[in-house]
Amino acid sequence: MMKFSHWLQALEAFWLGEPQVCPVCQQRSRVEGLPGCESCVAGIPLGWHAIADTPYPCFCLSPYSGRMKELIADIKYHGAVETAFFCGALLGIAAKQAPALVGTKALIPLPLHPERESARGFNQSRLLADGIHEWWRPAVWDVMVRLKKTESQSELSLRQRRSNVRGAFALRQGNVVRGRRIVLIDDILTTGATFAEAAGVIAAHGGYPQGLFLASGRVHR
Ligand SMILES: [Zn+2]
Repeated sequence: MMKFSHWLQALEAFWLGEPQVCPVCQQRSRVEGLPGCESCVAGIPLGWHAIADTPYPCFCLSPYSGRMKELIADIKYHGAVETAFFCGALLGIAAKQAPALVGTKALIPLPLHPERESARGFNQSRLLADGIHEWWRPAVWDVMVRLKKTESQSELSLRQRRSNVRGAFALRQGNVVRGRRIVLIDDILTTGATFAEAAGVIAAHGGYPQGLFLASGRVHR
């Protein structure tokens, strides 16, 4: 519940058009047209790039290193929900300008297994998708489900990862993706095995999948 004084401040800021507070540091003011303050935005190593060797087109905003690594840990392990929206917003701003993503119909966040989601309290990919949606037009569709609870994949080879995620995803309403350009959303791309599996499900239902990731920690094994 918001304190009355905070609520009054927010209302005042709205009427006076005062800049809002940065959601990441919660200290400095947001820059107009950006989701955070100058310093928090500048702190992220932005480097929009396409990933070449995935079976479907795939784009990342930043390398998985430095400040980006810290932000993702804040989101996943410390529940920094506002930071997830902020990162999603940056992704949305970049995606909006990417020619390859023109014509995207919907964003589908990669789901967590229900047990993992209830333990964490949220799905970070869904939060990212909400942030993206605020700055870029496509709707967010919660139509993908995770059937298999896969264990941590970090110690597995690419071949093991592929078999680990085989059959892990399904669509609740398969017909909605038919003939449509769909962008799958997730936080980190490593080997791409999880993305390939989820994208394959979209393609099997007649959709055209692409991927959009906050960070790429590309691992070739
Ligand atoms: Zn800030």
